[in-house]
Amino acid sequence: MRKNDIYEIEITGMTHEAMGVGKADGMAVFVQGAIEGEKVIAKIIKVTRSYAVARVEDWLVKSPERREPFCPVYKRCGGCSLQHMTYDMQLKFKQRVVIDNLERIGGFKGINVNPVIGMDNPMNYRNKAQYPVGMGDNRPVAGFYARRSHDIIDSESCGIQHTSSEKVKNTVIDIIKKLNIPVYNEKTGEGILRHIITRVSYSTGDIMVILVVTKENVPGLDKLIKIIAGEIPEVKSIVLNINKRRDNVILGDAVKTVYGTDTITDKLGHLTFHISPLSFYQVNPVQTVKLYQKAVEFAGLSGDETVFDLYCGIGTISLFLAEKAREVIGVEVIPEAVEAADKNAKLNNIANATFYCGEAEEVVPELYKEGLKADVVVVDPPRKGCDEKLLDTMVKMQPKRIVYVSCNPSTLARDLKYLAANNYVIREVQPVDLFP
Ligand code: SAH
Repeated sequence: MRKNDIYEIEITGMTHEAMGVGKADGMAVFVQGAIEGEKVIAKIIKVTRSYAVARVEDWLVKSPERREPFCPVYKRCGGCSLQHMTYDMQLKFKQRVVIDNLERIGGFKGINVNPVIGMDNPMNYRNKAQYPVGMGDNRPVAGFYARRSHDIIDSESCGIQHTSSEKVKNTVIDIIKKLNIPVYNEKTGEGILRHIITRVSYSTGDIMVILVVTKENVPGLDKLIKIIAGEIPEVKSIVLNINKRRDNVILGDAVKTVYGTDTITDKLGHLTFHISPLSFYQVNPVQTVKLYQKAVEFAGLSGDETVFDLYCGIGTISLFLAEKAREVIGVEVIPEAVEAADKNAKLNNIANATFYCGEAEEVVPELYKEGLKADVVVVDPPRKGCDEKLLDTMVKMQPKRIVYVSCNPSTLARDLKYLAANNYVIREVQPVDLFP
């Protein structure tokens, strides 16, 4: 098999990255953009010892689950990867990914995973957009990175963002050239504007704009602020984030409010939250409410419990739990988020939630040593999952229930394997689609 060879391939499975899997000349071939059940004519674009990668040239049989992507730049943009499938198939695909991980990594055979809870209208759902800024053909552009590259795809409107985010991005890009605000150049490190980030409150319509810049002193900033705020009255906060680094990390540590308020306010269900520029906040508010309701339901609280909410961010899950528990203890590593969690508790008149700043794997063993025990533990770690030291403390503490909220099924499976080896039993697995 060589590069550019053409084969007829039947697609018999899919990888977790949604590539079709088939065989040609006895070799496994991963076919970009092909769906299980399809028969395609494919061109080989890469060959290794154990597998090849191919691209669809034409279809002999198309899947009934195939649909026309709604986005004109879908093929090039690295943002979305399942738009060529019906939403129904996207949900089944994600359920499969969860099952596969639990079986292969977790070693749980024949595990029952509920159907994924999807969105009724899976469009324009993101409350946060991060647009890298760069130079296109002689003019500034902002958009998303192309697949596996740092080329910026310039698109007029992105169908998964809130329309306000797109409006902010287009307004800023239109005027920075006139204002002579230079865009950042990744290769040379020169220029000023690196990213335009927006956060939109779906409950109030308020917008926070974060301009990631290489230095605090931005020429023409006053004019830029005036134009953004003048053209888009929903903008209630404009913040500079200073990032002098030369790597891919988007945000620097320093923030400075240059217009309006330091935070914006959003509602999830009946609770209100202040959102600050650097804190983690779930990006799909509609699905977040469904996710949190499930977490609370699975916690099975009667009102007498001490509940730990670990990796609590700005205290969102904690406050949902607090209404049903005797006491909630939240642990979070980012000081700014812990401060926000305290404020959010007060804002909602919740007095039975206490927040600690530190790594969960350090704080929880300390609390346990001091004699504090959780009846129920909720964890919601970042992609790398829970530290073993934390899992170990949980096993010693013996909460009657653990609710594991995960954004990464592979580390979920690894951690559940550890808990299962220590006599915990999986009761229910409920995926929720946060990223249609
Ligand atoms: N439950 C929250 C946040 C989940 S995101 C929500 O739904 O909004 C994961 C959070 O874990 C982030 O806020 C991150 O800052 C925090 N975090 C990362 N590593 C941590 C650690 N070792 N200990 C405690 N918190 C951590």
